[in-house]
Amino acid sequence: MKVAKFGGSSLASAEQVQKVVDIIKEDTQRRFVVVSAPGKRNNADKKVTDLLLAVCAARCANEPIEALLAEIYGRYEAIAAPFKIAADHLASIHTSLQQFVTLPYENNPHFYDTVLASGEDNNAKLIAGILQSAGLPARYMNPRELGMTVTDEPQNARILHASYEKINAWHDSQAILVIPGFFGYTEAGDICTFSRGGSDISGAIVAAGLQVDLYENFTDVDGIFSAHPGYVHRPESIKEVTYREMRELSYAGFTVLHDEALMPSYHAKIPVVIKNTNNPSHPGTLITNHRDNLEQPVIGVASDEGFCMIYIRKYLMNREVGFTLRVLEIFRDLDLNYEHMPSGIDDISIIMRSNQLTAELEETLLRKIAYEIDPDELRITHDLSMVVVVGEGMRQRVGITADSTAALARKNINLEMINQGSSEVSIMFGIHKEQEKAAVRTLYYTFFD
Ligand code: ASP
Repeated sequence: MKVAKFGGSSLASAEQVQKVVDIIKEDTQRRFVVVSAPGKRNNADKKVTDLLLAVCAARCANEPIEALLAEIYGRYEAIAAPFKIAADHLASIHTSLQQFVTLPYENNPHFYDTVLASGEDNNAKLIAGILQSAGLPARYMNPRELGMTVTDEPQNARILHASYEKINAWHDSQAILVIPGFFGYTEAGDICTFSRGGSDISGAIVAAGLQVDLYENFTDVDGIFSAHPGYVHRPESIKEVTYREMRELSYAGFTVLHDEALMPSYHAKIPVVIKNTNNPSHPGTLITNHRDNLEQPVIGVASDEGFCMIYIRKYLMNREVGFTLRVLEIFRDLDLNYEHMPSGIDDISIIMRSNQLTAELEETLLRKIAYEIDPDELRITHDLSMVVVVGEGMRQRVGITADSTAALARKNINLEMINQGSSEVSIMFGIHKEQEKAAVRTLYYTFFD
């Protein structure tokens, strides 16, 4: 049994929806379908969720919303046009949109959530109707009826654990259930959405609740590439990757799936496959708990910019009890998050995201370290990128670090920092951002043909 989640680009037009119908028809194991709101049809287009955000903003500014509502309704109407669906599906979408003209927004913490969630909710109703017209036993399933109960955190909800058991009760449903992604209901009965892109989370929750064999996440790419296609010409797409590798890759800039989306399926040990609606025969990328084929030691090279590094050196630092603790307390007191902290005998480097620092905060931080730690050397390096070489197979293979650093040296790329976590799933290099692209490229060609 499978859960199939379709993203916005897979549902943006009638042509795309036809592909989705064919995909569902082709495999009777696809019994639970989770849908996003209609996405962009082309680069210049707007996602329905973004139009709904505009509705919220207009209402809060006491501006008219009729034109926006007409535009949104038009999107559903255009998708429905070639399909022979019962007229009441569109009528119900129209009614649901019209209520936003009067829905109170003052003293209503769930105003945005209610409006935004309608993008997926209306789409689920429509897709269920279209599947029925194609002769499939489909049924729209509201998240409340399904048992999707979430925390009361507007636009940032989290699933409540009890939901999984409730969802599991639908395990033997005979109908193909079409479930809107992106939102659930609080215990008090209010709509709360997950963070943006959250339909991926809904799909993973439904998959975990039902304990299905596979969670298929349909998008518009042939899976995950081994490197950024903007950096490397036609990189290979990854066939199989573990959750751990995926986590390392997405941390360093690979964002095919919503970050949190993997949590529920990871805990439930359910494999996820990322597939292309426009090329469904391509096997895509399979994300699993365990990977047997470790022949290829490196699975991907990822990178992200926007880091800075604070270097602290103090003679005999290693003999001072609580030294690191005192440094980190300064970070905590200033509410600063750090990402990595490689250390030597007498020095440590603290790497953090630069967007946390204003010039003022930076000065305070350095002043506090200077005053409280009294280091022999203290400096900050800006404009760093982190380049990460990822692969579970590295553990069994000697020389990956040597091959990487040799390749970087050949390109004259200076390493500000190397960090190989004890997990040995990844090696991270801190380099100047100007050299990020060249570094990814040379590392990719070192480990891939
Ligand atoms: N439609 C929502 C968004 O654009 C959720 C999703 O598509 O996953 O963020």
